[in-house]
Amino acid sequence: MITQFNWNFRLRISCLVALICTFISPSYAEIQEPLAINGQHIEVLIDPEHQLTVDNILDQKDLIWKSSNYKTPSYGFSPHTYWFRFTLPAQKNESILELNYALLDDISYYRLQDGKIIETILTGDKRSFSNRPIRHRAFLFPVTASDQNQTILLKIRSSSAIQVPLRLWSENTFFERDQYLFVEHGIYYGIALVMVLYNFFLFLRLRDSAYGFYVLYVITFAFAQLSLSGFSYQFIWPDSPEWNEKSLAVLTPLIVISAAVFSSHFLKLTSYYPRLSKLLYSHAFIGIVISAASVYLPYHTMIPYAAGLAIVTCLTILLISYYVIVKSMHKYAIYFAAAWSVFLVGVVVLAMNKFGFLPRTWVTESAAQIGSAIEIILLSFALAERLYDAMQRRFIAENESIYIKEKLIRTQQKQNQVLESEVTARTQDLEEALNKVNILNDELSDLSTMDQVTGVRNRRYFDDMLEKEFRRAFRNHSNISLIMLDLDHFKSVNDTHGHLAGDLCLKTIANAIYNIVKRPPDLVCRYGGEELAIILPETDLKGAMITAERIRHQIESLQVKFSGETISVTASLGVSSFIPNTNKTPNLLIELADNALYQAKNDGRNCTRSRGNI
Ligand code: GH3
Ligand code: MG
Ligand code: MG
Repeated sequence: MITQFNWNFRLRISCLVALICTFISPSYAEIQEPLAINGQHIEVLIDPEHQLTVDNILDQKDLIWKSSNYKTPSYGFSPHTYWFRFTLPAQKNESILELNYALLDDISYYRLQDGKIIETILTGDKRSFSNRPIRHRAFLFPVTASDQNQTILLKIRSSSAIQVPLRLWSENTFFERDQYLFVEHGIYYGIALVMVLYNFFLFLRLRDSAYGFYVLYVITFAFAQLSLSGFSYQFIWPDSPEWNEKSLAVLTPLIVISAAVFSSHFLKLTSYYPRLSKLLYSHAFIGIVISAASVYLPYHTMIPYAAGLAIVTCLTILLISYYVIVKSMHKYAIYFAAAWSVFLVGVVVLAMNKFGFLPRTWVTESAAQIGSAIEIILLSFALAERLYDAMQRRFIAENESIYIKEKLIRTQQKQNQVLESEVTARTQDLEEALNKVNILNDELSDLSTMDQVTGVRNRRYFDDMLEKEFRRAFRNHSNISLIMLDLDHFKSVNDTHGHLAGDLCLKTIANAIYNIVKRPPDLVCRYGGEELAIILPETDLKGAMITAERIRHQIESLQVKFSGETISVTASLGVSSFIPNTNKTPNLLIELADNALYQAKNDGRNCTRSRGNI
């Protein structure tokens, strides 16, 4: 899109230049050429003392007049008074004598016929603009029709350069040509104004000082042009001859200041080439000094410094811009350098025209102004290119940052995934470890409730389970029975066969009981030394008695083999049974079973007694 814009822009500029050239140039050429009063036909007399009056000139025949050697009489900056004398041929119509150098200070014009003054006009830019016989930016003298030759005497003194470009026009031709000049100037100042306004708005919006200094540069340059061509005196400060005289000397350094600062900002010299920036700022500083001095010191003293500084600065800017191109290859620097090059070419073409190396045509005459107009446009274009460059850099930087952000997010996501899977793996490990611990805990708690000698549950487990089964029976209003079993004369088994034999007997008996008591909630426990307790939930006294008897018979029939000997043991059993209620505790069940066991022992052992249903 931007490339399109570039091409559009180029196309538009080319069209504009082509249009101006096509329309103005040929029609301009059609205008009848004026009678240029060649320097060789002008006689000149220099009066360094400023002594001579017009009467002296007319009276003293012995004064030495010399022919001016220049096509256009030109004497540079000179403090002397210059007298010019030339003859106009007989005129059928009114005509206009044009002296087209707006900066001349003091001009006395005398028209002579038959050696007598018939008209005197005092003018020059030292006098108020309204004094002019024809109010025009150039000095115009009306010449009446005459069938005789007329002699013109001009007395000129000026702090500006002494240049006397004289042309004799028919009235019609002069005003016809002036129209074209107005259009030409109008286009130039129009371009300058449009660029000033456009870039001023850009400056307000973008706050880039390069635009501001560009605007200042174009304004100061346009004002200097207005001064040089006499427009400013005609339209802007017609009643300030003193200021008008100095204006160019004050304005030229201002152009230098704005051009130097603009170039430094535009090429970003402060950041990239601080030395070059300092160089340009030193030019700007000298510009300030010259400009300020020009307000107080005479024009002819200051203008050489101002012009010299302008030439040096222009060349410096051009060289710097070429240096920046070589160093950075920025496209906008190329446009910038092109702008200054075109301007310089324009100035050189004009100079070559003035020195007679190039023919005097519309193009060579307007070369500086055309160069300046193209420069102004190209500089504005360079600013646009610079903005585009900045936009593109920003775009690239933004894209890069987005890319980096996305990369970061992706990395973070990856890390999160890795972390998540690691956490999951760790959690699994942990769960497995926890499971193992739980299993171990279960095993451990299982082990802690087991009796190591008999392999049945121990007393602690018995207490817990009796409590639980008791509550369940209470809720269900069901019977709960307890058998307490004590081996008979077991001490003597130990004494006779040893403790190991006793242990084996205990184990064998517990195992036998375990096999008899088969209902799921039934529980065999070792209650004490050689005492076993059997909890029989949901079993009434009758059932418990049957089970007890079965156990007793089984024990009685057991023959335990130990070290080749056979050991027989009997047991006494006490049975208790009831349906729990609020008055009946687990301890009561134990107490009753104990009592019954005590009864069985008393009744001769190897028998079963009961206490139940109280
Ligand atoms: P009684 O018929 O009156 O019960 O006679 P008893 O010898 O069994 O008397 P008592 O119940 O007072 O004695 C218990 C004996 O049981 C003491 C001990 O020699 C034996 N005993 C207790 N615990 C164990 C044990 O864990 N292993 C072995 N081998 N013997 C035990
Ligand atoms: Mg005992
Ligand atoms: Mg015993």
